[in-house]
Amino acid sequence: MSKIEFVQSTHGKTHLCYEGYRYYCHHTNADDSKYWKCFKKHCRVGITTYANGTIRRSADHDHTPNETEKEVLNVRQNLKRKVVESSSPIDSIVDEAYANLQSPTVSQDLLIQLPSIATMKNNLQKERRKTREPLPKNINDLPYPIPLNYQKSQSGEQFILYDGPIAGSRCIIFSTPSLQSAYKDDDSFPPPTYNHFMKFSPRTTNHVEGRHLKWKKRSTSAHPNIYCTIDLLRQEQSLGTFSSI
Ligand SMILES: [Zn+2]
Repeated sequence: MSKIEFVQSTHGKTHLCYEGYRYYCHHTNADDSKYWKCFKKHCRVGITTYANGTIRRSADHDHTPNETEKEVLNVRQNLKRKVVESSSPIDSIVDEAYANLQSPTVSQDLLIQLPSIATMKNNLQKERRKTREPLPKNINDLPYPIPLNYQKSQSGEQFILYDGPIAGSRCIIFSTPSLQSAYKDDDSFPPPTYNHFMKFSPRTTNHVEGRHLKWKKRSTSAHPNIYCTIDLLRQEQSLGTFSSI
């Protein structure tokens, strides 16, 4: 027997999928049961779902079921979530997702029913514009204070230590209170570790190179924009906190 599944429509509404048909909630009855109508235009079939799990269908659909529709909606929903949660370029998010779908385990039906890459990118651009600040063209365009979602670490701690002028330019310093207390009075990294000024013994900055390489791998583009960069810092902070536990 087919089981009920819920999916998010492209407009963010909760739809119900059952036996390959998609329904939208029409109303809730006085006994708390819900009446759902078939999503297909002109189809008059509806089902009622009860709290005890019982399902009652009013008639038979006059069209064929589509088991793949919910998978398509799930792919779209996942992409939408990624676009809203991360600052990575839309192009790389969509290209990566579509490349991952080119696998023998993914049904041909799903690939056929998905929107084209160009349409998907277009839709997601609109989604990002709704939820994110426009990308600043230069430092003067960067809002002050910077958007709230970039002021906090991934665990919700205050992440901006200072945002203001230093030697005439705007500077933003990132650090969380827990990070500051972890490194306070800590001599794990005394200045000679990284400062080679006037040093005549072997000079190496391999550890810095290694760190840059790690960052490059984690970054989705060679020249990440300011918001991608802050996201990378937030990611780094969260990993740092984890490894210091
Ligand atoms: Zn129907």
